Amino acid sequence: MSIQGIDSSQLTKPERLLWTYGITDPKEIDLEAIAFDLGAKVRYRKLDGCDARIVGDKNTAIISINSEAYPKRQRFSLAHELGHWHEDRGKGVLPCSAEDISPQNIEAKSKEALANAFASQLILPNYLFKPRIIDRQPNLDTASCLAKEFNASLTATAIKLAKCSCAKVMVVCHSQTKREWFCRSNALSSEIWPISQVHHDTSAFELLFSESSKKTACKKEAANIWLTGPGVFNSTVNVQSAKLPDGTILSLLVVI
Ligand SMILES: [Zn+2]
Repeated sequence: MSIQGIDSSQLTKPERLLWTYGITDPKEIDLEAIAFDLGAKVRYRKLDGCDARIVGDKNTAIISINSEAYPKRQRFSLAHELGHWHEDRGKGVLPCSAEDISPQNIEAKSKEALANAFASQLILPNYLFKPRIIDRQPNLDTASCLAKEFNASLTATAIKLAKCSCAKVMVVCHSQTKREWFCRSNALSSEIWPISQVHHDTSAFELLFSESSKKTACKKEAANIWLTGPGVFNSTVNVQSAKLPDGTILSLLVVI
């Protein structure tokens, strides 16, 4: 069987779950309905010391989500807890901190990383995401449009865009004092690293230290003010940056 020409045997576990519900449009991804159908009740409340929590036995669970987090964060947290419900059912209470629930941590060999990878595929499933990036530039304007369409955060969407891109893409997040995290597309060599602080010649630097919360325009900049590694002195990057709700700067750059 197939949806839009997709071979269901190629789908990941969360995609298969969406597929069994017949979901063919991002707007149909109703996480609360999915939770209910899987036997998990969702509660929104003030939580101390964690951002979300699941308490359950083999068949039923209660998922609590921090009601003070912003809505897209709450959505990712719920998807993360559904990942635990799928993978770690019957393991009692699992409290998840803000650091545990992070779309950038999807590759470590930990149950938190697995839950994040599950969440990313549940909110931004490849079978709906990949057809939408054909013929679109990998930049934050594209990520913003897709984030809106999928009701996802800009961060989770930018990471997904990098991971699905054939171009040499890096997504990097900086605070005023350091590089917080980064991820690369498969096409970008693992010898290329982002520099540890935002360079003062970048438009990201201006955004980081200004009151503005607007996105910068896409701009060509010398690769060596962003990256270190073989060949960066002869390269250019196409870069766009945006301020996140916590004041850090998310940049998406493409080596050209
Ligand atoms: Zn967790």
